[in-house]
Amino acid sequence: MSRAKNFNAGPAALPLPALQRALDEFLDFSGSGMSVMEHSHRGKDYEAVHDEAIALVRELLSVPDAYDVLFLQGGASQLFAQIPMNLVERGRSADYVVTGAWGDKALAEAKTATAMLGAGARLAGTTGEGEGKDKRFVRAATAKDLRLAPDAAYVHLTSNETIHGVEYEVTPARPFPDAGKVPLVVDMSSDFLWRPIDVSRFGLIYAGAQKNIGPSGVVVVIVRKDLVAAGRKDIPKIFQLRTAADNKSLYNTPPTFGIYMIRNVLAWLKGLGGLAAMEQRNREKAAKLYAVIDANASFYRCPVERESRSVMNLVFRLPTEADEERFVKEAKAQGMVGLKGHRSVGGIRVSAYNAVEPAWIDALCELMQGFARRG
Ligand code: PMP
Repeated sequence: MSRAKNFNAGPAALPLPALQRALDEFLDFSGSGMSVMEHSHRGKDYEAVHDEAIALVRELLSVPDAYDVLFLQGGASQLFAQIPMNLVERGRSADYVVTGAWGDKALAEAKTATAMLGAGARLAGTTGEGEGKDKRFVRAATAKDLRLAPDAAYVHLTSNETIHGVEYEVTPARPFPDAGKVPLVVDMSSDFLWRPIDVSRFGLIYAGAQKNIGPSGVVVVIVRKDLVAAGRKDIPKIFQLRTAADNKSLYNTPPTFGIYMIRNVLAWLKGLGGLAAMEQRNREKAAKLYAVIDANASFYRCPVERESRSVMNLVFRLPTEADEERFVKEAKAQGMVGLKGHRSVGGIRVSAYNAVEPAWIDALCELMQGFARRG
């Protein structure tokens, strides 16, 4: 079998050892004579997997005791509504910093959700230039872009804009904004668990699993316990974060197979040396690819400012759309898939998540060198 060199943006490549482990255990999990999917979510066999997945998130990120780790459903998109429903009290407002399309969506949903509940959400700063279809995002926000309200319920931002390839804090020149005492709420869907981060800097982190840590269907939330405790109680129980927190994310039936796969992926990640080793591997991959772009600047062009260039989603343009089409086709013929940029922006996007092997990046760089030479 020849595995694809998979550069999809999400669902995305999963590490082969994690898939292999699932294959080995598929029909007979833990000597039980059935697959993990067929177990009760209340049984001890599944519970051990569930606990291990939570423990691995805690261990890899050194999550402080003052934080809960939750597994929710509905995708990060559901959290766009669920977070403001929980954290913005009646009469208060949340601040949103928008550096790409996902931040835009998060703000739109927050406005709808808070309007229903007598609260608000507002744009506190954006790096977007232009309007509508021509809107461009090429950098993370700096203090100069922001008008933060000191009494906001929280400040929301997207640490890595998956479509635009704009990421915070890949260089010290573009740190996460300083929100003072106001909690930072961060959508880390496309850059979760690729490097160590200090969780205590954030009030809430959320991430859909389908990029770096597993299949779609699970959202990981890391949230300060005091924010959960202070959360609104006048919303349906199923949307209250405390419901998941009080029940170890087992209030209702969780996506058991997805959580099992997260366990496999995180065990693989730990085995490779954890997040410090993974960061080095990812930075080397990204540095190689950006180096090819920069060395062939008359052919490839990365629209993102150097300080904000994403390590996870690397975007670039070729001279013409016809060239881009040819490039994608040629890559596909060499077993490289998922390189077409998001339909809203076009161009090429290389998603280089944890499971993307350095050798795939080497192959892609070689193709890019040759393609530019031939023109
Ligand atoms: N936020 C970001 C940064 C994303 O990349 C995505 C998905 N590509 C989402 C939110 C939405 O995630 P989901 O499809 O799981 O709702």
